[in-house]
Order: sequence, then structure tokens, then C-alpha cells
Amino acid sequence: MKKPVIPHSRPTIGKEVIEAVSKVIASGQIAQGKEVEAFECELVQKIGVKYAAAVSSGTAALHLSLLALGVSAGDEVIIPSYVCTALLNAVNQTGATPVIADIDRDTLNIDPEDVAKRISPSTKAIIVPHMFGLMADMERLTKFGIPLIEDCAQAVGASRGNSMAGSLGAVGIFSFYATKMMTCGEGGMVVSDSRDMIDRVRQSREYDNQDTYSLRFNHKMTDMQAAMGRQQLRKLDDFIARRREIAGMYKQAFNDLALSLPRHASDHIFYRYNITVNQDVSRWIGQMENAGIACAKPVYKPLHHYLDSKACPHTDLAFQKTLSIPIYPTLSDSDIKRIIEAVTRISKEEILKT
Ligand SMILES: *Cc1c(COP(=O)(O)O)cnc(C)c1O
Repeated sequence: MKKPVIPHSRPTIGKEVIEAVSKVIASGQIAQGKEVEAFECELVQKIGVKYAAAVSSGTAALHLSLLALGVSAGDEVIIPSYVCTALLNAVNQTGATPVIADIDRDTLNIDPEDVAKRISPSTKAIIVPHMFGLMADMERLTKFGIPLIEDCAQAVGASRGNSMAGSLGAVGIFSFYATKMMTCGEGGMVVSDSRDMIDRVRQSREYDNQDTYSLRFNHKMTDMQAAMGRQQLRKLDDFIARRREIAGMYKQAFNDLALSLPRHASDHIFYRYNITVNQDVSRWIGQMENAGIACAKPVYKPLHHYLDSKACPHTDLAFQKTLSIPIYPTLSDSDIKRIIEAVTRISKEEILKT
């Protein structure tokens, strides 16, 4: 009998989530209300910032953050190439011009040296995603003196020194999409120490009951989502601990194979476990699929490939050689064993072919 396929990602949803959401539904107060407010307060405490505004998605959080920073047509916003198109969409929604930067080869995060080359008098903001659970070099990026939007969609709960991801930029944004570190189906959050910034986000996330007209949106979160998010937040540290445990097993098993492993920094929360191979990544993904394990390219397509913009050689290299294998709290020990066996076998077979 064929074993069931191990999916590339899967949310961890316990009974407590179902109970909390059911309670909200039964209460009759299902849209943005007390649960959303409580979720904002709890995230603020977790991240160590002053203010938060919940929104409908990570993309909405990016869009409203850019607007709150005053970004508009004629401005430039720097974003890395090796990331999903959400960043590109958010910048384009403001009318500003996206400027694409390359990544650091080792960390796969936006490269401060390449950013420096792309700064112009029109640069109004830099979006800094902490990719795959590893924080970007905030220290060097901060020195440019340009407002940073920390994109923590893949790094909820990550920290460096005493600072949580999301507390270091002008604003921090989060996504609670189904595949992320914690989820409420769809959802997002903007956090900041600036009351003014969060007030502006609150102003534009809803359109009703305003005295003056200006373009506003409907980017609200529901109380059903927030109830789920609050329960997930309580489990976040456990989720991270299990991800780190699995990463440790992978490291031990793969150390001697002809692969490059992700940087095992002590602050990595392993949203993804990316391995770099010497062979064709698509063939690897096919072989893993034959073994009943869903893998993926960590990024579907780099942004500079869509835009015909300047070369990003490190992004190209990562795109050609990196694959993401399953890592999430609900992987069982036997799933992990299957994954380790498949990677080990394919790696040995592929060496013979090259
Ligand atoms: C998922 C993701 C987003 C977008 O979040 P949505 O909630 O799907 O809109 C933005 N940035 C990064 C780095 C992401 O991984």
C-alpha cells in the first residue's frame, strides 16, 4: 500500500482553536470587535512594541504600512528579489516604483551591500523580509537612515539579542496565512512604537463612520480569525521549539551528504528548511514526489525575473539550487524518518549521475 503524501506545509490546529472560534460564532459578534482588540494587545506584548492594528492579510499590512509612511507615486521602495509577489503588489498599489535588490548568498536575506547601490534621493522605504525564519541584518540596514518595514510574515516569534522581529523597524508586519508560523486562515498585523503610524493604519483599514472622505479600504480582520490567532499565539513558542528540534535531526542526518544546509544560527526559527543541491532542483523535487514527499522551491519565481530588472546573481543561484523540504510541528517522527531516508538516498543517487 502506498503511504500518504507528506504535504510541504500544514497548520497545527488543536481543539482549543475550534472551541474558541465556535464561541465567537455562537456569540453573534463575528466581525471586528473585542477578539481583534485582544489579539492586538497580546501580539504587542509578545513583540515588545507599543501599538498594533490587525488587518485582513500580510499584503494588506504591507500596503497600509507603505501608505502610513506616506509612500506614493514618484517614490521608490527597495525590496529583495527572492520573495513572493506580495511585496511587489503592495508597492505597486501605492503607485511608487519598486527597486529590486539582490540577496546575501549565505542567509538568503536582502543584502545590505546591494541595497546601498540602489538607494537614490527618491528612496522612501525599504521592505526587509526576514526570510525562512532567519532575521535579516537589521543593524546594517538601519544605518541607511531610511524607514524600514520589517516583514515578519515568515518570522513571527524570531528574536536577536533582546529584540523581537518586528520591533526594530519603523513598522513591522505579520501574516497569518494558513502556511505561516501561526495562522488564522488569512490575516495580518501592523505593529509600531509610533502611535501616529498605527492610527493611520486604523484609519485606512475601514471605510465607515468617517467625517471626511478620502480613499479607504476594507482590510479588517474578523473576531473569528482573531480568536484563532490568539490561541495560535499561545502555542507559538512550542511550535518554534518543535521546528528547531526537527531542524536538529535534519542537520545530524544530512551533515555528511553532498548538500549545503541552511545556516543553523541559534536564532533561526526554521519557518522553512532549505537545502542547496548541486544538481537540478526540479529533478530533485520530482524524485521527492516519487517518494511521497511534497517539496517546493522556496520562492516560486524571483521578482527580477518578472520585471526584467538588473541581474541579481545570488538570487539566481538560490533559485536554481535550493529546495524546501517539509518542516512543521505536526510532522511525526515516522514522517521525519521517511524524509531523511529519501533525501539521503536521492543525494547519493544524484552524485552518481553528475
Ligand atoms: C506570505 C508573505 C506575505 C504575504 O502575506 P499574505 O497574508 O499572504 O498576504 C508577505 N511577505 C512575505 C515574506 C510572506 O512570506
